[in-house]
Amino acid sequence: MPEALTSSDTNVCATLKVGPYTVRGISVGGVYTTVQVPELSLLLDVGIPLRAFCAADRIFLSHGHVDHVGGLPGLLGVRGMMQKQAPPEVFMPVEIVADVLTALAALTRLQRYELAIKPVGMAPGDEHHLGNNLYVRAFRTHHPVPSLGYQFIRKVSKLKPAYLTLPGAEIGARKARGEDLFDKAEHLELAYATDTLVRVLDTNPSMLKSRILILECTFLDERKALAESRAGCHIHLDELIEVADRFENEHLVLMHISQIYTPSEAREIVFKRVPPHLGARISMLAPRRGSWL
Ligand SMILES: [Zn+2]
Ligand SMILES: [Zn+2]
Repeated sequence: MPEALTSSDTNVCATLKVGPYTVRGISVGGVYTTVQVPELSLLLDVGIPLRAFCAADRIFLSHGHVDHVGGLPGLLGVRGMMQKQAPPEVFMPVEIVADVLTALAALTRLQRYELAIKPVGMAPGDEHHLGNNLYVRAFRTHHPVPSLGYQFIRKVSKLKPAYLTLPGAEIGARKARGEDLFDKAEHLELAYATDTLVRVLDTNPSMLKSRILILECTFLDERKALAESRAGCHIHLDELIEVADRFENEHLVLMHISQIYTPSEAREIVFKRVPPHLGARISMLAPRRGSWL
């Protein structure tokens, strides 16, 4: 099997080492999805409140379906036990902010403990600075409810080639005079898209150039007809195979696999069906052994 990237797994939570990043989580289509990237301090969706992820200060919700947001109140409750004072920033489609706050207000009354968040509503194309040189840019995904994908970007300044030979003092002096000495470069580090039609690859093609791409692939073979998969606004492996040559990513992490497959079946099908040049870059967010939780 060409997948050599998994560093360790437990029965339920997969841990993948992809390039410089760790991608940890649990993801079963329609059941729950939550994915952590500790090096970037990101938590992607909260379909289930895994205790180890509850200290997250930055959460990105793809959409409002319960397999992606159902664990948020639980996570906030566990944070309370951890004495985390500041509410986490929760990025989400701007259309769902009011409903998420209303739901948390009702649960706060039940809990008699404030389940507070700092909401950040985003629309496709919106960009937000996350600190240091890290930014997030939202992009449209294609699902029956308001939904977003997220591209995480590092923005770096590089001295323009014409100035490379100048001594440091001269560069400092020119900078002080307000000369524009730098080229700006964007490094597309990691993109996340789930619960979407495959045409997201056309409407946001830069995700194909992201170093790491975490992408749903809910259905894998004829057990789910392509038409049915599309009707539910999900990606079928047939569709990824068709565009296998377009992926320029160093690593492609497939997740949100349907529970109609066991984890080991899912691996077998994926690595048997995809062309080897893509298979060599695929990791699956699925336990190596046993069944889904
Ligand atoms: Zn889902
Ligand atoms: Zn959904």
